[in-house]
Amino acid sequence: MDEFGLIERYFTRPARHPEAVLGVGDDAALIALPGARAQLAVTTDTLIEGVHFPQGAPGYDVGYKALAVNVSDLAAMGARPLAFLLNLSLPEADPAWLARFRDGLFALADAAALDLIGGDTVRGPLSITITALGTVAPGAALRRNGARPGDRVYVSGLLGEAALGFFTRSGRLALPSVFHEQVLARLDRPFPRIEEGQALVGIASAAIDISDGLVADLGHILKASGVGAELDLRRLPLSEAYDAAFPTVGYDPALVFGDDYELCFTVPPERVKALAGITPRFACGFHDIGGIVAGSGLVLRDGQGVYTPARAGYNHFDG
Ligand code: ADP
Ligand code: MG
Repeated sequence: MDEFGLIERYFTRPARHPEAVLGVGDDAALIALPGARAQLAVTTDTLIEGVHFPQGAPGYDVGYKALAVNVSDLAAMGARPLAFLLNLSLPEADPAWLARFRDGLFALADAAALDLIGGDTVRGPLSITITALGTVAPGAALRRNGARPGDRVYVSGLLGEAALGFFTRSGRLALPSVFHEQVLARLDRPFPRIEEGQALVGIASAAIDISDGLVADLGHILKASGVGAELDLRRLPLSEAYDAAFPTVGYDPALVFGDDYELCFTVPPERVKALAGITPRFACGFHDIGGIVAGSGLVLRDGQGVYTPARAGYNHFDG
């Protein structure tokens, strides 16, 4: 049983309240507040030392990323970030570490405009759980289930940068040193695609953020939408740094590593023009990498033929 099978089997059941518009299974849940002009988007993610970040990781980066991964889920819904709750489990109260953690956390909270409105603090192994809240117009949220055959598949920004950062830091990849800062920054301090997500409302038919890798996360869109997709790997947005690493690493870091926090989304053909209209506003760019097809499953093609990655993507209870 994998992570998602576990959630489906044990923790998915029908909602009691009609206000619970969207529950388990998307980037955020949606709550309709009676009489309100907006819906509440709610999402939560946990970061554990030794699992999501290495022991001794800089407090600043841990604070920044703990909030960034949550805000990224709001972005993937097309929601406007509003506030967050912070649940901290700490082995000890180390003032220097806490100050750095706070600085990283609030750096992103300021950049993404969220207020810290509560939480909980306990003693235990180092772990951070954040619950982020955002708002979205009723019916406007970008869900995973709206992709249809004929839609184009897009990703924002660059893929595989976080993977290159991870391999560089762990010494598994000898990337030219001019690229080190760039790929480590993408690993440690991804900036969630907040404005992009909101601009995609009314344009994208489905969206998700890439936390577990393109193959796994696009896979969630395909499953939720009941469709398949065909991608041309030669169209993946890869950086100069990635080009330098490509002979060693191939396509897989861009496909199955994750941690990029880019958006993957689908656009119906009649809205591709509208997408082109908003694209100049965003430095990251939106890249057409393939199309949605009837059926199920994901087919990847490179210049030679069908390509199969070595693994599917990050999953906490794989195998
Ligand atoms: P994401 O990668 O976007 O953060 P996850 O992979 O963490 O999403 O979770 C997938 C979906 O399952 C989400 O809708 C999440 O809220 C839900 N989920 C995860 N764990 C649980 C749980 N223990 N109980 C209920 N829902 C859960
Ligand atoms: Mg997500």
